[in-house]
Amino acid sequence: MSNRNTAAWQAADAAHFLHPFTDFKALADKGSRIVTRADDIYLWDSEGAKILDAMSGLWCVNVGYGQRTLIDAATRQLEQLPFYNAFFQTATPPAIELAQRLAEVTPPSFNHVFFAGSGSEGNDTIVRMVRRYWDIAGRPQRKVIIGRINGYHGSTMAGASLGGMAAMHAQGGLPIPDIVHIDQPYWRPHEDGPSRGLTRDEFGLVAARWLEAKIEEIGADRVAAFIGEPIQGAGGVIIPPATYWPEIERICRRHDILLVSDEVICGFGRTGRWFGCETMGYTPDLMTFAKGVTSGYIPLGGVMVGDRVARALIDEGGEFEHGYTYSGHPVACAVALANLELIQQRRLVEHVHDDVGPYLAAHYARLAEHPLVGSAETCGLMGALRLVQDKARGTPFAPEIGIGMVCRGHCFAEGLIMRAVGDRMIVAPPLVMTRAQVDEMVALIRRCLDLTLEDARRAGWLA
Ligand SMILES: *Cc1c(COP(=O)(O)O)cnc(C)c1O
Repeated sequence: MSNRNTAAWQAADAAHFLHPFTDFKALADKGSRIVTRADDIYLWDSEGAKILDAMSGLWCVNVGYGQRTLIDAATRQLEQLPFYNAFFQTATPPAIELAQRLAEVTPPSFNHVFFAGSGSEGNDTIVRMVRRYWDIAGRPQRKVIIGRINGYHGSTMAGASLGGMAAMHAQGGLPIPDIVHIDQPYWRPHEDGPSRGLTRDEFGLVAARWLEAKIEEIGADRVAAFIGEPIQGAGGVIIPPATYWPEIERICRRHDILLVSDEVICGFGRTGRWFGCETMGYTPDLMTFAKGVTSGYIPLGGVMVGDRVARALIDEGGEFEHGYTYSGHPVACAVALANLELIQQRRLVEHVHDDVGPYLAAHYARLAEHPLVGSAETCGLMGALRLVQDKARGTPFAPEIGIGMVCRGHCFAEGLIMRAVGDRMIVAPPLVMTRAQVDEMVALIRRCLDLTLEDARRAGWLA
């Protein structure tokens, strides 16, 4: 790779590279930050600035950067067998071994996996698979899949349709047919809306029953599945009330609807258990995974298929007319195996559950006292701070101010990657993080909040 200076990289980037989810012109005018290397939980840019990556890349680098065993696993597999497919009645050892290991680390009802290249492809597989399941079950009219507003399930046609991002639906004629949405379980008791005046747990039941109302509106005999993230990630780390998921599960069982857990972010230890559904107390029929399965070192995704669906597909389904060139890619599977081994050997799930997760929660409880912070929540190593204009009343800032982006600008300048989703500032740092690194991250967060507060005072944005 050539060694250019920042301006040269930025010029070539602006001339040729269309970035995902980006206003191309605005970025070309401003110039990208060029990230050139990484180690542990830190990144370095082409100007030599060190950055604490509190987003684990894009919710994926759970074991941190520079892990030798993952690098060696990829290198060995590239030398041994860089690629072979699984279409022609063939398989490769890494794919077989990973399928077996995934069956071991997932809840007991999961014994089969369908591999894909990403989370989006995993969710495309979900759509194909649940509709195929109901065909085999002799109820082909069960086609409708219910997702949630502000959910994120990827950016392919099916993934974007299952998700509930209005801006994505507005481009490209989405959602595709027979996908509908209910509202998200976002508890905002101080604002006008469905949760006003309710306790958190009361609201969890109210929000879950929106699913039942939607099923009754459509007719249960037309509904195939419900899909949700245990905790909405890209939607702003929306942690549902504890009452929500058990009630969702009850409703799905009562109406005989498949329950799909999109574990692309919450899987592999993020919430302090292996999978988010375990933290939230439900057992789905299908789970999408990606991101953390390889800690992002190489792309891999897929679907964990529970016994109910697997038995129908295997025993009665005949040929399933679906698959990807890279389903079970040997190098990706080899890296995933090394990643799972590292998670187990370093006891990272326990580390999040017993040590750094509670430690981060204690820090966030103190951040909640900051004058700009209306609420501070964590689950495992995911955290969200909601910035408010009037702390006493919980009044949000006017959206035009873009308070989250103001704060994010300070983070960028101060060497911290913290993401803004509207007025919510979110983190999902690598699971290998030590307590000292949590202290370091929270000190940076506090500094950026203080700088944002100064801006707000100066500009007269506060109540
Ligand atoms: C990132 C994400 C996806 C999409 O995964 P890609 O690998 O980007 O296709 C799907 N679901 C959730 C919950 C995600 O966070």
